[in-house]
Amino acid sequence: MISFTDVNKWYGDFRVLKDINLTIAEGEVVVVCGPSGSGKSTLIRCISRLEPIQRGHIVVDGHDVNDLKTNLTLLRAEIGFVFQQFNLYPHMTVLENITLAPRLVRGMTSGDAEKLGMDLLKKVDIPDRANHYPSQLSGGQQQRVAIARGLAMRPRIMLFDEPTSALDPEMINEVLDVMRELAREGMTMVCVTHEMGFAREVADRIIFMDEGNLVEQNSPHEFFENPQHGRTKDFLSKIL
Ligand code: ADP
Ligand code: MG
Repeated sequence: MISFTDVNKWYGDFRVLKDINLTIAEGEVVVVCGPSGSGKSTLIRCISRLEPIQRGHIVVDGHDVNDLKTNLTLLRAEIGFVFQQFNLYPHMTVLENITLAPRLVRGMTSGDAEKLGMDLLKKVDIPDRANHYPSQLSGGQQQRVAIARGLAMRPRIMLFDEPTSALDPEMINEVLDVMRELAREGMTMVCVTHEMGFAREVADRIIFMDEGNLVEQNSPHEFFENPQHGRTKDFLSKIL
């Protein structure tokens, strides 16, 4: 579903991604971890070309992401992106936030989009908040709306960039529960997260980044019980 071949990216003369090779299969759940500044956000932003790369190739569901002939609107319609900051439109209700893209990009009728929106709000367990504004919701509820909004385009891939890092501790699990459910349903997911319990339980594979390098990738069991690289061991000793 996603492949990186010798991917390199620079910000000016700073090389932020170094010879990244990575293949993610349909239905796979991959957790990306590593120290702050190691390139995790950049890596996943490249998947939907929120960031261009300067060398190498990224192919997503058959689309060459950096080919100028690739239709970015269609590519991004296949990819739901959930950020640390929920980024909901403050002047729109919860339901309007969710139905906007399906109406504008997919050309859905308002009726169909609202039905879809309500189904998704049930899925994230807050159908009663449909007509509220984002500011009237808790952080955990806002992030669940952001996930519902991401799902509204019926994406084939969901990307998460530290989706629980801005939340109060008691709200983290309600968001992780939605992500667990998506994983169970077979969604292809790439999640940057420091939630190692989630990683251990849900990930098919864990990737460790350090200074722009993909240092190590392994099954959760191997990753935690038998880390291969000094930098991985050092990182795990600090967070576990
Ligand atoms: P992480 O998500 O692992 O914390 P990032 O991908 O956000 O790391 O950033 C990796 C490195 O690239 C950091 O040193 C960061 O300061 C730098 N960086 C990120 N975005 C930009 C940008 N738009 N311009 C210049 N440098 C950037
Ligand atoms: Mg980041």
